[in-house]
Amino acid sequence: MSLEFSDHRVTGTPDAERARLLADPVFGEIPTDHMVTIKWSAERGWYDARLGPYGPLSLDPATQVFHYGQEIFEGLKAYRRADGSIVSFRPDANAARLNRSAARMAMPALPEEAFLEALRRLIDADRDWVPSGAGNSLYLRPFMIATQRSLAFYDASDSYLFAVIACPAGAYFKGGVEPVSVWLTTDYSRAADGGTGAAKCGGNYAGTLVAQRQAAERGCDQVVWLDAKERRWIDEMGTSNIFFVYGDRLVTPALTGTLLAGVTRDSVLILARDLGLTAEEGRISVERWRADAHAGRLTEVFSCGTSSMITPVGRARSEQGEWRMGDGRPGPVTMRLRTELMGIQSGERPDRHGWIHKMA
Ligand SMILES: *Cc1c(COP(=O)(O)O)cnc(C)c1O
Repeated sequence: MSLEFSDHRVTGTPDAERARLLADPVFGEIPTDHMVTIKWSAERGWYDARLGPYGPLSLDPATQVFHYGQEIFEGLKAYRRADGSIVSFRPDANAARLNRSAARMAMPALPEEAFLEALRRLIDADRDWVPSGAGNSLYLRPFMIATQRSLAFYDASDSYLFAVIACPAGAYFKGGVEPVSVWLTTDYSRAADGGTGAAKCGGNYAGTLVAQRQAAERGCDQVVWLDAKERRWIDEMGTSNIFFVYGDRLVTPALTGTLLAGVTRDSVLILARDLGLTAEEGRISVERWRADAHAGRLTEVFSCGTSSMITPVGRARSEQGEWRMGDGRPGPVTMRLRTELMGIQSGERPDRHGWIHKMA
């Protein structure tokens, strides 16, 4: 049975004000006029799907999410095409991942069609908020929280709220692509075997803040996460996945359960093969990274994720010292993949894999 959505649209932000806000949006700061909410209860399943005005949620202070962190989220973008249509990139992959995260956190699965319909409704209502121009997008943030009111923690919550909010996003790199520097932390872990590292849940983010501060103290932009057991194998970088480039061969850490299966990561693996490169999943140690970079075998390193798409890594630092990737400038393979991926999203490159979904 498909979910009935109710539609309560508001007049919203005046055109001139919206145009001012869209001119140079600060990421994550400016909400659009609407949001979608869908409730779940043990008796009713998913119900009360509604598009309504964006605004505060009123929750009892004893609501479970505030105390026990049962929360998951997604992040994806919508793009305005030259013909005025609005598209998204692999939203079905985000729907599937939300449900994998939900399963890990003992939360109910949301039918994929309801997830997509929620996005379509919000994009349609807020279509004027989708900026045009290279690299600009509307960032969509679906999330789910436990809403049972009780401090008792015996079992999973008996009620949930799924919501989608959105904010305009400007191009990640305003003045050309800039390589970042990374700190390989051995003091902190992001995830361990059997933990929640493969789920996109809020708690995974809270735990990274102190390591990110440590990276900044070491003069680095981002943290690289190593495996929790040996502190030797590379997992991820900040809140992105990571790729190592050996000439025309790419290697990215395999999905061992401690890292997040990025939609961008999966897309890069496929695109690399389309471009005639070899792309494989494997295991890279800190010693290997350092030795291969010194020897010049490792030619480039980049991170990937929805927010920045593809970002070159120019310099790495650990307790053992510091090393550079190539000449520290963005490498040709990194930039080729970046151009290809962003070209598919903007419509300048063919969509060979059916990744582009028309949303409005
Ligand atoms: C969201 C996320 C990514 C990137 O996933 P995309 O689907 O490519 O945006 C990578 N690592 C972590 C920890 C994440 O939360």
